[in-house]
Amino acid sequence: MKKTYKVRKEAYEKEQRKITCFEQINSLPDKKETNPFLSQVFSQILQDIVRRVHKNFQAFFRRLKDATTKAGYPRFKQFGRYDSFTYPQHGFKLEKSQVKLSNIGWVNVRKHRELPQQEQIKTCSILVKNGKYYACFSCEVEPQLLPKTNKKVGVDMGLTSLLATSDGKLYQAPKTYRKSEKELAKAGRKVSRRVKKSKRRKKSVRILAVKHEKVANQRKDLAHKLSRELVKNYDLIAHEKLQVKNMVKNRHLAKSINDAGRNLFLTILTYKVEETGKRVVEVEPKNTSQICNQCGEKRKEKLKLSQRVFKCSRCDYKDNRDINAARNILKRAEGLGTSLQGAVPIGVV
Ligand SMILES: [Zn+2]
Repeated sequence: MKKTYKVRKEAYEKEQRKITCFEQINSLPDKKETNPFLSQVFSQILQDIVRRVHKNFQAFFRRLKDATTKAGYPRFKQFGRYDSFTYPQHGFKLEKSQVKLSNIGWVNVRKHRELPQQEQIKTCSILVKNGKYYACFSCEVEPQLLPKTNKKVGVDMGLTSLLATSDGKLYQAPKTYRKSEKELAKAGRKVSRRVKKSKRRKKSVRILAVKHEKVANQRKDLAHKLSRELVKNYDLIAHEKLQVKNMVKNRHLAKSINDAGRNLFLTILTYKVEETGKRVVEVEPKNTSQICNQCGEKRKEKLKLSQRVFKCSRCDYKDNRDINAARNILKRAEGLGTSLQGAVPIGVV
């Protein structure tokens, strides 16, 4: 679909004109006549590609208006970079262990989970990752509200543990997870040692991609488990606002892996909260690890990264540093007047 992109690029560069999605979709049948390759593809997939390009250009025009950021021009996805396509409404059918894709045929599938009724399945995307093909179905399902517990919690995604709660619980990442994170870092170093464009580099890049996928899957699994437990046990979950700027700046690999995990966890937590009728509150992260949650005394010296225990000089309170931070986070959320009653919309406070 090089033309979809090119036409827009030219229109923008020569005439400063934005081409509409409608315009491009309507021109598809004509294009099919001159380009037989296009008729091999199911029509709605082509339309979806036009929509994807449209979305990217809209984001670009939005970035142009924002003076604080540099608006990068949308990148053309060449052959080899295009790793998915979508059937936005029809053209696919799922039966037992096979899926029928229009213009492709019946394909055997291995189901990772049971899907709802056929009419609840809205779209089907096929993607390729590390040589494996996946079919992803998006479905429309009713939210399943969880019973109220009348409990609230502050969570800190800490240094000494994966997650600490204001109830004094600490969650550690499983050993297997930490092991594969280490392997990932090692594979990354290997790639950078290899000579560019060499065969050995290509091979190590492939290995790195597989390890990346493994860590990503483990991270997702862990984030699901943790957030499920939180929404089951609490009605209100308070956490620190993630500072995106710091994340980008951080070039230390182990730390950036950690940040990616936090981000994913919060995304999954937020949608689980929406699904189950619970609430999530974001608070300012400033000094949560430096203040005593009992008496409010702020440490004169900053707690070093290596110090795992928080000790208060005024009231003798002593606890794991992440638990102290989690308690401060809950306090901050309470200070914002977040009662458990009433349907307050989820959002940044
Ligand atoms: Zn104190």
